[in-house]
Amino acid sequence: MARGRALAPLLLIAAAGCRVARPPTAAPSAPPVAVSEVAPAPTASTVPAPAASAPSAPAAEAPRPAAPDEDLDDDDDGMTAPPHRPSPAPTSPLLALSDGELQKRWAHDKASLGSLSVGAPNLGLLINGVPMGESAAWVVLDPAGAYGTEETVRSIARIIERAHEKFPDTKPLAIGHISAQHGGHLSPHKSHQAGRDVDIAYYLTQGQRGLVAETTTTLSGAETWVMVKTALLETPVEMIFMDNGVQRLLVDHALAHGESPEFIDEVFLVRGKNPAAPIRHLHGHHNHFHVRFHSPNAEALAKRLSRVLPTPKRAPPPAAQKGHGHGPPPAGASYFELRARSGDTLVVWAKRYGVSVEEIQRANGLTGNSLKIGHVYRIPRPQLPQLPPPRR
Ligand SMILES: [Zn+2]
Repeated sequence: MARGRALAPLLLIAAAGCRVARPPTAAPSAPPVAVSEVAPAPTASTVPAPAASAPSAPAAEAPRPAAPDEDLDDDDDGMTAPPHRPSPAPTSPLLALSDGELQKRWAHDKASLGSLSVGAPNLGLLINGVPMGESAAWVVLDPAGAYGTEETVRSIARIIERAHEKFPDTKPLAIGHISAQHGGHLSPHKSHQAGRDVDIAYYLTQGQRGLVAETTTTLSGAETWVMVKTALLETPVEMIFMDNGVQRLLVDHALAHGESPEFIDEVFLVRGKNPAAPIRHLHGHHNHFHVRFHSPNAEALAKRLSRVLPTPKRAPPPAAQKGHGHGPPPAGASYFELRARSGDTLVVWAKRYGVSVEEIQRANGLTGNSLKIGHVYRIPRPQLPQLPPPRR
């Protein structure tokens, strides 16, 4: 079947996700875009998730030594980046329900609550996630890893449909991972845990081939720009990870087609004008881009429920600040350890990991707001009661 043949290379994207930094050895002739800007190296103590299982290597790809920055996945730099695009206010009528009604629905009719995005993209869960579904405009590479909140799925559909409307002859675009059905860890990513992240291929001039570095000759700027612009203007996008080389190509395309330089400066970090620009470089995103959407309703409802529902007992916090090691938390503990780096604050951590400032203070016996750089702290893991265990 023609489609199956055409899609075979794309499956590599699904298998390799954001970690794939370069084309396979049977590389195409086109030279990759320059990846001169290297994101800061991660420190082990800043990785909150349990030791990541080794990604299953795509069959067609020979093992190769890991580059120093190979571990960088889709979420890290976003965490230290300047403020992301703020989330629009939630509008769900469910938020007007009483605590009692919410408790009742949680106990007896969870489906009626709609999607819930619990915790953070790199430490979270998805409840009542919905599958990406099928369309003439896209192909889902790994349906088991393509569940999102209703809001995310709607946003993804919208950005691709806009490009398809404008360019009806465009071949279906490849959608990689969103989240697992119940969220949680989804190999090989660090993020993609809460139904708000998606990996999407770029539109190419020569049909859709996966794992090909975009260059002036292979990137189809027109369709790709429609998609990215739609995300910026019509969806609650939080940030977009895109290789600097691809950013430059898109910038050139957009400016040549009449976009205002002010708008371009505002949204592309590569322009160097707006440190909080939502489109940011991250290693590995030259053959696909990664969009993180806000899910205002799914996030607000999850937060509300976490306050309304009885929280399961956490393991008692450490009695003292001394003697923090790097080992795993004690058995049964619902904490992970994190070393404070320059720029970290309790507020930043609370937002990043989906817990409250008070919870972090309690877990560490803190009375104030100050963090000591280099000191290791404990962060409670976000959770809701009676959750199904996250599946892989
Ligand atoms: Zn990703």
